[in-house]
This record gives sequence, structure tokens and C-alpha cells, in this order.
Amino acid sequence: MDSRIDVVGDVAQAVSTGALPGWDQVEELVVAAHARYADDSSGVLADYIPVLAQADPAAFGVCVVDADGREHAAGATTTRFSIQSISKAFVYALVSERLGHAHLRERIGVDNTGLAFNSVMAVELHGGHPRNPMVNAGAIATTALVEGDGPDEQWEAVVDGLSRFAGRRLEVDEVVYTSEAATNSRNKAIARLLESYGRIEADPLDVVDVYTRQCSLLVDAHDLAVMGATLADGGVNPVTGERVVSEQVATDTLAVLASTGMYERSGEWLFDVGLPAKSGVAGGIVAVSPGKGAIGTYSPLLDPAGNSVRGQRATAYLSRALGLNVFASSVHVPTRPTSPEEPA
Ligand code: GLU
Repeated sequence: MDSRIDVVGDVAQAVSTGALPGWDQVEELVVAAHARYADDSSGVLADYIPVLAQADPAAFGVCVVDADGREHAAGATTTRFSIQSISKAFVYALVSERLGHAHLRERIGVDNTGLAFNSVMAVELHGGHPRNPMVNAGAIATTALVEGDGPDEQWEAVVDGLSRFAGRRLEVDEVVYTSEAATNSRNKAIARLLESYGRIEADPLDVVDVYTRQCSLLVDAHDLAVMGATLADGGVNPVTGERVVSEQVATDTLAVLASTGMYERSGEWLFDVGLPAKSGVAGGIVAVSPGKGAIGTYSPLLDPAGNSVRGQRATAYLSRALGLNVFASSVHVPTRPTSPEEPA
């Protein structure tokens, strides 16, 4: 029995507002964020998809795109890498656009599992319910729900949708795809397990193939910033002006990222940095400040949870310096009458 109570009802969603500091200040801080961590070589390259171990450990780029589509870039912001797990956020948004808030919550879930991104145990612990759309089980179950009759149409919908988020046609890195497709037995096992629980209706191996391709799409730090800025801008890509998803879907996706986007460090990340974000094992991170803009970073040296070390540090620096933490406030100085007897 579903014990959840409906806490929202039909109350309309108003939005809180705010803006980034002036253009020059953002430009200066993006350059400073890059310079500050450029020589930081902590972390290790991913190797569980063999070809990822060949990335250049020195590559490091930081890009901010604001909700007006203006860009600030420092370092390797046009170096391409596979999007990997970051694709989960945007495929989730596309499926959410198609099926809606309640359906996604019921079918996939919106909570952290607290277990590794490729955990089989997490699926077993919850009786086959994927629970977290930002780890492999939930992401594979989400990809199975992409619009389309069969894997070819579904793949087209994924590339088309993620390309609209990025504002340019994205392409697969065939070398990464082939490398992962040859070594992804665990994801195939997860898909079969989901099938056994009735959580995937299509052919599980076809679904894993679409999922593996989506993870192999090539992006750069600038693309990530534009994709994130689309979620910051109520679902409209601020560079192309195209509406990609609804405001509600952008809101839902960011809420999911806040609780799940940084693997099993998501709580600590929110505590330290205060921004919804998603990272991928090739070294990308996108962090989103609703209404203001997004930060895209690339550096392939990872911490033990699979999050880019320099990317986390640069994003944390910018969250603080630009005032992006969604939980931060200071004592309010009244600017309007606080009661009828007390005129301004
Ligand atoms: N394609 C990877 C996988 O499914 C994504 C891993 C990640 O970025 O977390 O295992």
C-alpha cells in the first residue's frame, strides 16, 4: 500500500528569484576558479571502462552559462569527453516530460539509495524498485521509458532530446561505446534483474544498448553548462531560445539531482556546496543554480566516489564566490512596510 500523503495538492508553483553578479565579476571568478585548481593533480583516472584510462589527466575546463545564455569560460572548455552518468539527468527530464511527475515518482523513485552507482543490492533491497534514477538501475529503467517504438526510435529520441539541451547535435564516441559495450555485463545483469521484477517491459539488452550509447555521447564543459542552464532557465535553452522541457520538469529534475546527483556523496555535496549537480565517470560535472545559470566543468581525475576532484573544487569555489548556494541567506533588511502602522 502506498503510505505517501499528498502534501502539495493543487497549489500553484511560484518561483524565488535572483541573478548572478555583473558580467565582469563572473568572468573574473571563472578565470580565478580555473587558476586556483589548475595545478591540483589529486584523484585518479577512471578505468572501469577501459578507454577512459587514456584521458589526459591535465585537462581542466570551467564554464558558466547564465540564464540569459551568456558564457564565461576558462581552460579546456572545448575538450570533448563522454557524458556518461550526466546523461541520466537529461534523459530523466525527457521521460518526465513524457510521463509526468507522479508517474516517475511511482515507477522509478526519487531517493538516494546510499549505495554505489552500479549496485545490484540496492535493487534487491527495495524489492525491484529502482528508487534512484541517477544510478544505473534507475537510469536503465528510465531509458526503457523513452518515447519510441523500439530501440532505434528510442535512441533517436535520446540524441534529439539531449542535443536540444546542448543546442547542437551531439554525437557518440564510438570508441567509448565499443569499449563499454564489451565490458558492461553488470549493467546487463541489472537490466535482467529489473525485468525479473517487471520493471522493464522492453528487451533488457536493447535498453542497455540505448543506455550505453547515451553514456557515450560526446560533450565538453561548455555543452554541460548550456544543458544545465536550460534547467536553470525553466526548461528553455537560453542560447537557442528553444523550450526543451516544461518548468515543472526542470524543477523536478533539479530536485532529483539535489538528492542523488553526486553518487553516494550527494548529501555531503549539498551540505558543502548547496547546488543540484550531476557528475559522470569521464570527469564532467554540471551544477545548476535555478534562475541564475549553470557551471560545467571537466577534469578526468576522480575521487573514490567517481566525482571529478578539480570539478568539485572549482564548482564549490564558484558556488561560494557567486552566491549560488540555494540554502544560503543573510538577515533580511526590510525594504517595505512590515505592517500597516509602519510606513516605509
Ligand atoms: N556508462 C557508465 C555505466 O553505466 C556510467 C557510469 C557513471 O558515469 O557513473 O556504468
